[in-house]
Amino acid sequence: MSQTIFERIIAREIPGKFVYEDDLIAAFHDIKPTAPVHLLVVPKRPIAGIAGATADDQAVLGHLLAKIPEIARLAGVAESGYRLIINSGRAAGEEVIHLHVHLLGGRPLGWPPG
Ligand code: AMP
Repeated sequence: MSQTIFERIIAREIPGKFVYEDDLIAAFHDIKPTAPVHLLVVPKRPIAGIAGATADDQAVLGHLLAKIPEIARLAGVAESGYRLIINSGRAAGEEVIHLHVHLLGGRPLGWPPG
């Protein structure tokens, strides 16, 4: 089975700038940042986007969300604030079909998003 690009980053086959990693998840910098801090937080075992999540993924997804405050602290944006985004499907511009949460911060983030 072909690997996702994020699996290859996690396997150190291609470079990634890691901020956090444990047995279940990893957080690394997006290669095309749209904010001074732009991380991708991913389950190590690929889930086919949020649309592909099932009840089997509850534990890892709960773990991923519960780790966000720590990851935000490590990235230096816990105090200033940050935004989490999951793109799903074509209209949202989802490109990599391996579930990932974008963590954006380090600048004012307008609301609603454009
Ligand atoms: P999405 O559009 O939500 O699927 O987001 C995919 C994200 O993956 C984009 O923001 C890309 O810039 C990012 N990306 C693609 N390849 C890499 C890579 N090799 N290292 C880090 N981020 C990447």
